[in-house]
Amino acid sequence: MDPVKNSILIVGGGIGGLAAALACAQQGAKPHVIERAKVFSEVGAGIQMGPNVTRTLFSWGLEKALREVVFTPDRLHVRDAQSGSTLGALRLGQRSVQTYGAPYFAVHRADLHQVLLQHVVNTGAVKLSLNCQIDLIRDDADQITVNGRGLPEGFFETVQAEAMVGADGLWSSTRQYVVPQTPPRVTNLLAYRALVPMQSLPESLRTQDVTVWVGAKLHAVLYPVRRGEFLNLVVIVNGRPPVQLAEWDHAANKRDLDLAMGFAHSDLKNILSAVADWRLWSLCDRPPVRGANEMAKGRIALLGDAAHPMRPFMAQGAGMAIEDAAELAASWARSELTVPERWQLYAKARWARNAKVQQRSIQNGKIFHLQGPMRWGRDLAMRMLGESLMDVPWLYAGP
Ligand SMILES: Cc1cc2nc3c(=O)[nH]c(=O)nc-3n(C[C@H](O)[C@H](O)[C@H](O)COP(=O)(O)OP(=O)(O)OC[C@H]3O[C@@H](n4cnc5c(N)ncnc54)[C@H](O)[C@@H]3O)c2cc1C
Repeated sequence: MDPVKNSILIVGGGIGGLAAALACAQQGAKPHVIERAKVFSEVGAGIQMGPNVTRTLFSWGLEKALREVVFTPDRLHVRDAQSGSTLGALRLGQRSVQTYGAPYFAVHRADLHQVLLQHVVNTGAVKLSLNCQIDLIRDDADQITVNGRGLPEGFFETVQAEAMVGADGLWSSTRQYVVPQTPPRVTNLLAYRALVPMQSLPESLRTQDVTVWVGAKLHAVLYPVRRGEFLNLVVIVNGRPPVQLAEWDHAANKRDLDLAMGFAHSDLKNILSAVADWRLWSLCDRPPVRGANEMAKGRIALLGDAAHPMRPFMAQGAGMAIEDAAELAASWARSELTVPERWQLYAKARWARNAKVQQRSIQNGKIFHLQGPMRWGRDLAMRMLGESLMDVPWLYAGP
């Protein structure tokens, strides 16, 4: 049998790349995932997954494995970071299932990644190559040819496939084969992230909910992960990084964070001060996608952060990568079409929704950080409209 037939080369084995491998393998494809890292390990911290995302993951058979590692929060509260008052709340738990037919989960990235990896391996159809770097990609009339090498020394030189997926994240090197090369946009927003054992916190600071604290030029998001055994904390402040931070896992200077939080309410300060070890991440994004041509060209499709990196203020970056993967697999199944036609179908189905979430993420960030009279207006609207303002039916109902 022709080894190229039905083969898809997926560059990047993050959440998006593994989701694509799993979904495409379930449609009969033979994916080959090429990952730069030496071992599959997802750094970082928590991820929230709305019902639009959990529904997709369940459709791939992941429900049981996910339920063993996730946390299901009851509510999302928005509190004023200065006064501590509650501005609004959105019921998540049962309401998410009743309204959208799927739950709202909070999960550690490594746990989600591990569940995906396990299911990818179980298909028996996916080849995984770690410690590999793609150097050159050629999109010919009938196949993709990739020159690559193992790291640090070469062990594969040329791989051929029927199609390719660039799932190599924010700093994607495959992106240049679809759209002209431009660097990601530095947002001048810094994310301080931490994960603390719930047991290490005083009883009064433990929580079963997602809490978003909004303040002038900053906000904080807190929620349990790992069956509620850990609390995930993210504090976003306006500011430039001391150096350009392109990767996860930079130690943060806690004093900088303390300075930024000077005015914060004692409830918030008490939780933050219980954390010794903060990591710092400089947020980057790209302007919202402008058309299907920015997500696929010929035999190459882009997916996840490689295509549409977004600010995390809708908590949907990984979610959109997972939705992309589902659509990609559905398009792949259209075997009556050529590969470029299938990828165009995928791109046409996905670009506008991704652009909308990117745009809304930018807008949410601005709303969270409002100051002065605009802030009073926001607080009043939240108090009056509450749940109806915070719910996002067009998003949670799915594509
Ligand atoms: C503070 C913060 C909070 C967030 N919260 C949420 C949330 O609550 N919910 C949510 O859905 N999303 C959230 N996100 C966004 C989410 O983390 C990302 O959108 C998601 O991880 C993107 O997945 P990806 O697979 O596209 O890219 P990545 O996770 O970046 O994976 C890319 C992979 O490609 C590999 N790679 C890179 N270059 C190459 C190469 N040349 N060759 C081979 N391999 C390569 C990398 O090693 C990596 O494994 C958050 C992000 C941040 C910063």
